[in-house]
Amino acid sequence: MEILYRSTRGAEENVPASKAVLNGLAVDGGLFVPQEFPKLTATLEELANMSYQDVAYEVMSKFLTDYTEEELRYCINSAYDEKFDTPAIAPLHAADNAEFIELFHGKTIAFKDMALSILPYLMTTAAKKNDVKNEIVILTATSGDTGKAAMAGFADVPGTRIIVFYPKGGVSPVQEKQMVTQKGENTYVVSIKGNFDDAQTGVKKIFGNRELEKELDAKGFQFSSANSINIGRLVPQAAYYVYAYAQMVKSGEIKAGEKINIVVPTGNFGNILAAYYAKQMGMPFGKFICASNENKVLFDFFATGKYDKKRDFILTTSPSMDILVSSNLERLVYLIGDCDTAATKARMEALSGQGEYEITEEMKAKLADFCGGFASEEEVSATIADIYAKDKYVIDTHTAVAAAAHRKYVAETGDETKTVIASTASPYKFARAVLHAIDAKYDALTDLEQFDALQEVSGVKIPQAIEDIRTAPVRHDRCVEVAEMENAVKEILGL
Ligand SMILES: *Cc1c(COP(=O)(O)O)cnc(C)c1O
Repeated sequence: MEILYRSTRGAEENVPASKAVLNGLAVDGGLFVPQEFPKLTATLEELANMSYQDVAYEVMSKFLTDYTEEELRYCINSAYDEKFDTPAIAPLHAADNAEFIELFHGKTIAFKDMALSILPYLMTTAAKKNDVKNEIVILTATSGDTGKAAMAGFADVPGTRIIVFYPKGGVSPVQEKQMVTQKGENTYVVSIKGNFDDAQTGVKKIFGNRELEKELDAKGFQFSSANSINIGRLVPQAAYYVYAYAQMVKSGEIKAGEKINIVVPTGNFGNILAAYYAKQMGMPFGKFICASNENKVLFDFFATGKYDKKRDFILTTSPSMDILVSSNLERLVYLIGDCDTAATKARMEALSGQGEYEITEEMKAKLADFCGGFASEEEVSATIADIYAKDKYVIDTHTAVAAAAHRKYVAETGDETKTVIASTASPYKFARAVLHAIDAKYDALTDLEQFDALQEVSGVKIPQAIEDIRTAPVRHDRCVEVAEMENAVKEILGL
């Protein structure tokens, strides 16, 4: 069955997967969505005996139907190899009455590696298939982790350049150091004087500029996106939820067909939406608990049916979730709104114009699979300390938002369904906040001393990504006003 894609806002229909991956965003600013959901053909028992790579193939081949088997296997095998520090790629760790699926064993020690290790291969393969001669310029806004993971993926990939925008002061010290030390002749890092939403809005604006697009084309360039608005990010992410379930069947923790709940620390709504897509493929998933930090716009949305971004932007210890405009929610709003593109477009225009939109009662009723949760900074800290005290397992601040939301959910509902928690970053990436939660005595240590302390506390060896930034020289120091983002792009490309 061939799967074609359309824009959530209606301007494009019947777009093959490779074109959707290549373009990133639809011409009307909408997001590409499958026109129907494919079903998994392998049984749960078969999946239980597959490697990560084979599960990824089972899932991705259903969505990316215009890639040949050879092409897709090449992409998967090139992405999920020794770059990951474990052959399991995404191992499970049992703690706190749940299974934590550790999505941080890739190059940049955050879950963004799961999709961004493969996106460059999907994109360059798509360029070849579609006879694209232009150089592809990846433009990305990052709240800290996407930028580094995207650059690690695209660095020195022939035929591509990558420009990353991040909010100055809005990312952790490790995240910033990782980005500004990025190697690769085709990588560019720009900090902006604004927050993540400013960066994301600025990038979307550049994408939407048709004049600029023409100018670029004349010079042999075209833009694409490595943000989770790209369908090529979502599809690889659906794979690890299937893999987590399959591994639980394999270990005998659940029976094939038994429902599980999934908790995801959420920012742009990409990771949790991928789990929801896996359910549409036939996976027996029960509730999706969408965990927010103090920027709890999604929690309020699930409670009231109203999305309202007009509120203060709070800087928390989980910066990759400091987001007020969750782009991928558009894909869910489209689905629960009977795939009505005009209505989706109107809502998204209301969001950018008036800062809010509302869904109907019928749409709200279709959100029964979702449950919003959130955790305050105190709860995040207490959860890290408690899970460490109880299970000797150290989790990062983002994962702790999810773990705290899970605890609250179980306390409120009594729902004891087996649960997978998406563990989205290594604690090393947020060492200062994590150690502070465990014991304030660590506050006095320097950044470098903290890594050694965390090694001792957690019993987990310092990852290569941390060793790398200890010595790497700074290569990028560009900083611009939000209004100057487009000019920065032009300057970098020599337009
Ligand atoms: C990006 C990120 C998130 C949020 O994921 P979304 O797909 O944007 O919802 C959570 N935790 C970490 C560590 C991240 O890097």
